[in-house]
Amino acid sequence: MIYLDHLASTPLDPLVLEAMLPWMRPEAAGNPHAAHRAGWRAADAVEEARAEVAALVGARPGEVVFTSGATEANALALLGGVPPEGGCIVSAVEHASELACLPELRRRGHPVAVLPVDGTGRVDPAELERHLSSLGKPALVSVMAANNEVGTIQPLAELAAVAACHGATIHSDAVQALGTLALDMPALGLHGLSLSGHKLYGPMGIGALVVRPPFRPVPASAGGSAGGGQQRGLRGGTLPTPLCVGLGIACRLARERREEDARRIAGLRDRLWDRLHDLLGDRLPGLRRNGAADGLAGCLNVTIPGIDAADRLLDLPELAASTGSACHSAAGEPSHVLLALGLPAADAHASLRFGLGRGTTAEEVDAAAALLAAALSGRGPAGPLRTA
Ligand code: PMP
Repeated sequence: MIYLDHLASTPLDPLVLEAMLPWMRPEAAGNPHAAHRAGWRAADAVEEARAEVAALVGARPGEVVFTSGATEANALALLGGVPPEGGCIVSAVEHASELACLPELRRRGHPVAVLPVDGTGRVDPAELERHLSSLGKPALVSVMAANNEVGTIQPLAELAAVAACHGATIHSDAVQALGTLALDMPALGLHGLSLSGHKLYGPMGIGALVVRPPFRPVPASAGGSAGGGQQRGLRGGTLPTPLCVGLGIACRLARERREEDARRIAGLRDRLWDRLHDLLGDRLPGLRRNGAADGLAGCLNVTIPGIDAADRLLDLPELAASTGSACHSAAGEPSHVLLALGLPAADAHASLRFGLGRGTTAEEVDAAAALLAAALSGRGPAGPLRTA
């Protein structure tokens, strides 16, 4: 299996697994919130991990709120973070976990605005300026650091500067960016940031919302996120020690390796595009790369006009890639991200996303391009590819 779906989920780094295993053994029993020696031991491990998460984004440990993943972190930021009399402004290419909060915010009477993006998926800071001026109220702005479908990196520092001029709070979903990009919250002027373990070679089922003062979201309900009052009442529930430890190590490895990873993985991404172009470009002149060319190191999104991307992937069982966001692939809807970039629905359906990562090799990249090309020319294991 050639695994080119790192944007959907990254494999667990062996060092992460090694650090987690002792905390899954029976002798490691102990609730990290309990007042006895076993509990304190677990609490120490959790706090060490919290410090690693904070260090990755230039925050303080006390600003890190562990969650079940970025979906929960985004929901806490948006549903709990919009100022009481204020509005919410997000970009059109945000992850579904944010867009899904918008109807509820509208229902609660908050004005909601969605910022358009250009043909590469980038938000223009001038557009944010216009929206904040016309809103004329306190606002929470949320723009992702890098897009999970096309890899476009947003001008976060400029957007944060615009938000600051209007006294607005700014949050960023940094799930995809942190593995290969340095993001320092104070330097960027960010108040909130979401991250997820399984996009960083850490475990599934854990993530974090990092909140810097004065940003302090209100938990969804006393019986819900606040629960037993853990994590300063921001998000209750017993913390999963092994998952926290795993996320902490994953963040430390990201800090140590992201520069080298970014350089190597971006080289492989460009190699994949070159190979696809060499093999298919003559026959399929409409073959196109989506998003900004200087986007996320591990992301290559291509449109192969005339194909049905979902069918193509089913024809290539030895290749793990994606038609877009994994969260959407079951729905059969064209990607809202590609539509926001201006692609017609037919082209959005004809687009494939390759997610390259730390373990990806040049041989895999060449083999993936060859498999796809062979399938498209009728020499693939499943015979000629059907066009839609
Ligand atoms: N935001 C982005 C940009 C993502 O790519 C994802 C995962 N597809 C999420 C949020 C949700 O993360 P999690 O799986 O941790 O809930």
